[in-house]
Amino acid sequence: MEPQRRSSDQRGMKPFEAVNFFFDQAADIIDLPLSARDLLQTPEKELRVRLPLRRDDGSLDTFIGYRVQHNSSRGPYKGGIRYHPTADLDEVRALSSLMTWKTAVVDVPYGGAKGGIEVDTSTLSKPELERLTRAYTRAIGDVIGPSMDIPAPDMATNAQVMAWIVDEYSQRFGHSPGVVTGKPIELGGSPGRTEATGTGCIICLDQAVKAAGMDRTKTTVAIQGFGNVGSWAAWEAYDRGYKVVAASDVRGAVYCPDGLDVQALIERTAEHGSIVDAAGTQEISNDDLLALDVDVLIPAAVAGVINPGNVDTIRAKVIVEGANGPITPKADEQLAEGGVLVVPDILANAGGVTVSYLEWVQNIQRFRWQRSRIMGELETTLTSSYRMVAERSRKYGVSMRLAAFVVGLERVRDASDLRGML
Ligand code: NAD
Repeated sequence: MEPQRRSSDQRGMKPFEAVNFFFDQAADIIDLPLSARDLLQTPEKELRVRLPLRRDDGSLDTFIGYRVQHNSSRGPYKGGIRYHPTADLDEVRALSSLMTWKTAVVDVPYGGAKGGIEVDTSTLSKPELERLTRAYTRAIGDVIGPSMDIPAPDMATNAQVMAWIVDEYSQRFGHSPGVVTGKPIELGGSPGRTEATGTGCIICLDQAVKAAGMDRTKTTVAIQGFGNVGSWAAWEAYDRGYKVVAASDVRGAVYCPDGLDVQALIERTAEHGSIVDAAGTQEISNDDLLALDVDVLIPAAVAGVINPGNVDTIRAKVIVEGANGPITPKADEQLAEGGVLVVPDILANAGGVTVSYLEWVQNIQRFRWQRSRIMGELETTLTSSYRMVAERSRKYGVSMRLAAFVVGLERVRDASDLRGML
């Protein structure tokens, strides 16, 4: 499938511009002076690196990678590493900025960063993936570290990729499990990290459903994307009694009005690499999934999937943004006008960074916590963050997205101010 360029909607916005479109509105709400806006919008550092890769057949290819460190007022930079053909500087910059506001919304003591390599990993063998990851780690090695900048997995990177980063970094700087989060448990990873983002989506959904007086067992859910976030969101929703009626991956979507067997879909993906053709399901398209008459939609795949071209077809009453930036600004406005409750990415998918923080704390403490303690902390953090955002939403009469940006901006502004930057 063609990588989705998400550089524009009807406003012609590129990703970083789209993030700042919301930033500016939140800045207006809290009367942030123009000089402070400029400072807080602009990334502190941007690193572009050239990565040579010796292919298995002996030929040489060159890839381009980035690490953008957006803001460190509240703590070390934090943010994932994405391997994707669209991971150019503007996309990575936008995602680094989102991380600044996300870590502030859930009040973990980090700033924001993001990394990426412009690569389609389906064209790499496993040894090539490892060599490219090690080259990237060497190239950014001077700017990352357990108290400087802590990467994590994002699209097409996983615990194994983090393990290679720990190994490469530790060879140069000494044993450093805290240099990344999302590691395998055997290397200092945390119980609960893998499922944290998807679970966090459902913790937020619980709050939304409770506030709306809806009944979980009668609430239908459709989920786009069945990777880390989508599959765990599906599992947690199913486990908490929601009716998950549709799910999809890049190959297609499956639908069952009586409720999908989520465990069977997870097993099917493990065996066949896709949920398509799962027994007892009806095949539909990804476009059909987005337009289903369901109560809740969880876009958990790629950015820009709800846009001016299809926003009129959306019938869900609640949208929980598992992915980063799945709704373009123009479509977001239209959904808000139509009374759709959108739980924004910087809150809805912040479960990952929350448990990443707990993983890092365990690495620093050299002490492993029980899974129950971690999942309890996750529930408490996201529930209180959701309530705070909902309170700002009521106070200012704005969407949950703008309210989340307000909470994030307030915290980063206050930290920057106390440090004498503003
Ligand atoms: P992943 O690579 O594990 O899974 C992506 C899923 O989306 C796969 O099932 C893939 O088949 C599907 N997909 C890709 N393109 C699609 C399309 N056009 N239509 C439908 N499905 C499509 O990635 P992930 O880690 O689950 O991340 C998904 C999103 O969540 C990304 O936007 C990522 O930035 C965001 N996110 C992830 C985490 C995390 O902890 N993994 C944390 C915060 C945010």
